[in-house]
Amino acid sequence: MLGNINIDDMVAMIMKEMKLDVAQGKDCKVEMFNNNLGVFENMNDAIEAASIAQKEFSKYSLSRRCEIIESMREELRKNVEAFAKMGVEETGMGRFEDKVSKHKLAIEKTPGVEDLKSEVDTGDGGLTLYEMSPFGVIGAIAPSTNPTETIICNSIGMLAAGNSVVFSPHPGGKKVSVLAVEIINKAIEKVNGPKNLVVTVKEPTIESTNVMLKHEKINMICATGGPGIVKIALSSGKKAIGAGAGNPPALVDETADIKKAAKDIVDGCSFDNNLPCTAEKEVIVVDCVADELVDCMKNYHAFEIKDRETLEKLEKLVLTEKGTINKAFVGKNADYIMKQIGINIDPSVKVIFAQVHKDHPFVIEELMMPILPIVRVKNIDEGIELGVKVEHGNRHTAIMHSKNVDSLTKFAKAVQTTIFVKNAPSYAGIGYGSEGHSTFTIAGPTGEGLTSTKTFTRKRRCVLFDGFSIR
Ligand code: NAD
Repeated sequence: MLGNINIDDMVAMIMKEMKLDVAQGKDCKVEMFNNNLGVFENMNDAIEAASIAQKEFSKYSLSRRCEIIESMREELRKNVEAFAKMGVEETGMGRFEDKVSKHKLAIEKTPGVEDLKSEVDTGDGGLTLYEMSPFGVIGAIAPSTNPTETIICNSIGMLAAGNSVVFSPHPGGKKVSVLAVEIINKAIEKVNGPKNLVVTVKEPTIESTNVMLKHEKINMICATGGPGIVKIALSSGKKAIGAGAGNPPALVDETADIKKAAKDIVDGCSFDNNLPCTAEKEVIVVDCVADELVDCMKNYHAFEIKDRETLEKLEKLVLTEKGTINKAFVGKNADYIMKQIGINIDPSVKVIFAQVHKDHPFVIEELMMPILPIVRVKNIDEGIELGVKVEHGNRHTAIMHSKNVDSLTKFAKAVQTTIFVKNAPSYAGIGYGSEGHSTFTIAGPTGEGLTSTKTFTRKRRCVLFDGFSIR
């Protein structure tokens, strides 16, 4: 409301005054919201604005696209600590220092325009060129576990590919998501790029996501989240990228450097309190080195629960009656979790672990808490079989500590995950301290794998018949 005038009535009055027809009027309404830095009250308006922005953006040269991406990285860098602080505070999950690292990773190691490579065929028939074109307007769904890391990484890749993007964030991370969208729009504005290339709604809901999933101006869906939303996205009738749940096993055999394996497992599992879908969710260890591994883990800020009674209390706390996870403990600190069952441990403890049976719910469920079940197996073949089983066919991530190339190959072939990390913490799989680009959208179910700019393009062919072959 502006005084006594409703904003819709005001728009209607202006349209009448300007003698605009209905179709033009829709665009005019969007223009009026253009000082909003990409944040809209209504999903339909957000999509309309992103559609207008993409049409304008399609006229831009590749060097202008690069300029926009660089400006985004520059502005985002200045706000890394704000995202990390607000992310922890708003979602109540994760660790500030790890969120700082995750944001830096997304800003620095998400590929830009350079990821788009053209291909060519030449011969007697002339020249045929293959180029990567934008899809148009992408509807992107982001999880609560990496709200702004996903927005940053998706925005860089999707815009570098020439698209605009409409975000549907998790309601639990809406404020920090709005901040990210605003900063990205400011950065684009700074280099005179189109308004509303990246948009979202102020109050995301299941209904607003459904509007996005069905909207005729959304050309592609990219869903990052649990199995429910991936299934919904894949049923949308649109081209959809599904980046779903993981339950990464870490397998340790008798040839591994056990001390290093123990440190890597604790570091990977505790990263952002186990929120990453790539983080170690269970350890499977060959019996003859199990005691040594457990002893070494205790030297790296891991706390072992040894008695049945404490383990039962922990199970009751973090699991529901149905055996699913109690979301109230997702991403919480280890000492906070233990305090709820009356045990005080030092805040420096990063991981709680317990030796359990292979069918224990901590092994089967994707906990996303710094609680690590450890299962002993007789030999590597039994370990591989169990690793494949508990990964649940997600095709997401698996980790193995071994120096036996045959065993490493055997597990990698059997488990068929998108990411397979050898002798390092799980986060090496997303480019943290390792080679290769980074992403926070790992599309196992639909097969795009570690998404990057080219994932968000259509491959097109242009044929010049009977000409321009100089062979
Ligand atoms: P979630 O599935 O609860 O939510 C993800 C997104 O989907 C949110 O934006 C949510 O609002 C939306 N959503 C969920 N159900 C919906 C419905 N019925 N209708 C419309 N929208 C709906 O997941 P989460 O708890 O936010 O995130 C954790 C999950 O995401 C874990 O399973 C984790 O493994 C997975 N994840 C996967 C990747 C990957 O790259 N593969 C990355 C991060 C997280």
